[in-house]
Amino acid sequence: MATRLCSNCRQVMHGATKKNPCTVNPPDPYTESVCRLLWKAFVSDEKNLSEIEKENPGIHIRRSGLCMELSESMVKFSIQSAGDKTCRKAKKGDLFSDIEGQQEVKSITAIDSPTSFGPTQPWDVIYFLDASEWRNDDFTIWRIPLANTHDFWKTLPVSKKQTKGEFSEAGKRPRPIWSKAIKPLLDERFPDMMKEPFYKGDFEGIFTAKAPVAQPLA
Ligand SMILES: [Zn+2]
Repeated sequence: MATRLCSNCRQVMHGATKKNPCTVNPPDPYTESVCRLLWKAFVSDEKNLSEIEKENPGIHIRRSGLCMELSESMVKFSIQSAGDKTCRKAKKGDLFSDIEGQQEVKSITAIDSPTSFGPTQPWDVIYFLDASEWRNDDFTIWRIPLANTHDFWKTLPVSKKQTKGEFSEAGKRPRPIWSKAIKPLLDERFPDMMKEPFYKGDFEGIFTAKAPVAQPLA
């Protein structure tokens, strides 16, 4: 006879009922092995698309970058490796940690790809995954503990005449380029914060690296 599993925590049925529901946190289905599978899928997709381009001169296939589930998982495991085991997939938004609160994840796979910001998304800390060197198995994650309400974001220029704040108020999605519009300004205004990335290394290192432990927010 098949073992019955609890519908909430997916462990062996332990007598939870409607009146006495299971309160165990269900395990995170986005495991390390899922993260590796998503990474493999991205790499093989890229290879296939490059082949099609090579065999059909004159065509260019626009790439969509890492899927959210992959970039979120990579950042989540880097945060967990840094010691914050409470980091998990958020019910709303990207990631959530008991130490840092709402964690927003952005990623790029080309140095000049734009970063899209929703007009109302809130966060306490933002993590930028720079995967532009993925072909060399080299990843950089920047930790930016500036909440969405911080002046830096409001006054960030996203076009010749407008700031991110003005864009968001108009309900538009600003798409500043990390390497041109965001990072140089962060370097200039927060040199201490930008002195070292949160993580730099290869894909596998994300699961084991001893990245600097995230500090609780002041
Ligand atoms: Zn249960």
